[in-house]
Amino acid sequence: MDLQRYPAEPFRIKAVEPIRMIDKNQREQLMAEAGYNTFLLKAEDVYIDLLTDSGTNAMSDRQWAGMMQGDEAYAGSRSFYRLEDTVKRLFGFAHVVPTHQGRGAENILSRIAIKPGQYVPGNMYFTTTRYHQEANGGIFHDIIQDQAHNAAADIPFKGNVDLDKLDALVGKVGAENIAYVCVAVTVNLAGGQPVSMANLRAVAEYCRARGIRVFMDATRCVENAYFIREQEAGYQDTPIADIVKEMFSYADGCTMSGKKDCITNIGGFLCLNDEELFTAAKELVVVFEGMPSYGGMAGRDMEAMAVGLEEAMQEEYIEHRVKQVRYLGDRLMEAGVPIIRPVGGHAVFLDARSFCPHLSQSQFPAQALAAAIYVEGGVRSMERGIISAGRDKKTGEDQAPKLETVRLTIPRRVYTYAHMDYVAETVKHLHQHAADIRGLKWAYEPKQLRFFTGRFEQL
Ligand SMILES: *Cc1c(COP(=O)(O)O)cnc(C)c1O
Repeated sequence: MDLQRYPAEPFRIKAVEPIRMIDKNQREQLMAEAGYNTFLLKAEDVYIDLLTDSGTNAMSDRQWAGMMQGDEAYAGSRSFYRLEDTVKRLFGFAHVVPTHQGRGAENILSRIAIKPGQYVPGNMYFTTTRYHQEANGGIFHDIIQDQAHNAAADIPFKGNVDLDKLDALVGKVGAENIAYVCVAVTVNLAGGQPVSMANLRAVAEYCRARGIRVFMDATRCVENAYFIREQEAGYQDTPIADIVKEMFSYADGCTMSGKKDCITNIGGFLCLNDEELFTAAKELVVVFEGMPSYGGMAGRDMEAMAVGLEEAMQEEYIEHRVKQVRYLGDRLMEAGVPIIRPVGGHAVFLDARSFCPHLSQSQFPAQALAAAIYVEGGVRSMERGIISAGRDKKTGEDQAPKLETVRLTIPRRVYTYAHMDYVAETVKHLHQHAADIRGLKWAYEPKQLRFFTGRFEQL
């Protein structure tokens, strides 16, 4: 038996939270009442909640101890300085601006670094990131390699930037019309796919030669680092913390959702090297978030975040994290369930087009599948397909993405392998009678980020 293939949890359990399963008839009724949108279910009615890994993490005893030690001073909180020191030491950037969560940092960065009409090339889009870029006059341009849009292409570092695509854009519009290049590590909507160090280095070299800034979406940077250690030549003996630091040496700053790789329940920050941008960011943070020494977080949240970021860099932690996600993916693949390959760092993405071949994309197969999984086994997931992609700002048309997926997202340190087995059984069983899954149509379509609160009816 290969003990390292799926390492046991590198922690023991000190506090427990009971979960309960309601019966299937009830689930069917509740799903209809929630407009077939898993975001609109009550968490209490969910048995295993894989909606998101965002803010759903279990904190450690040390983080909880840190909560008691949080300094709630309005200005100059000790907890801020601790967080600032930790982020500077681990990420290597000159300045840190705390925010209430990742999108707070995206809002500020988009406002200070984008001039209306400028392009913001990125390795696939993320919902809130692109929203803020566009709201500030930016034009998103996808520069991820083509294969990232193909669910079945089983290649390492599927999140890599295609430098030819970047170069073609720069050639067409000119370097002065690029606000900055946004590189996500890992790429959430591509399936949690990592970016290689060689690719980050090449992007930085290309951009520095042309005076273009690079900002990273650092949300899952530690998971990305684990893939580099595991799969990129030359990094097998490099500590995770050193890999993270090298990754960020290729950027001018980053936005961070602390709700993911900081293993906390709330928080975020923006990192910058440039003095002028830092000054501009501090002017805006007081408007949108709070003083530059708390940015919308309580002192205790900053304390827990500093501890969590250190814990995320621990080898045993990150190995178990990535391999637990892979365990669920392996169970599904064995049973012939179509998923995005390879399995990424935070979630298993079901390929809803292959799962529901009887539904066209305009019948919202991923939205329908996520609803069906809840009814089947009380497991909550989310749609990442045509609903999440939203409408084109100019034409008003749906931006039909190639990837039409349902995301089973694993919270950090919350569930065990036995829970993963239950989820796999639920999805496998549903897969056998997938032809019964009915398509959906809009009942209410919100104007922005429609996946959060939209409602549907069965066709
Ligand atoms: C969650 C997330 C964000 C936004 O962060 P919030 O803390 O939810 O505001 C940005 N980028 C990526 C890739 C994310 O997964």
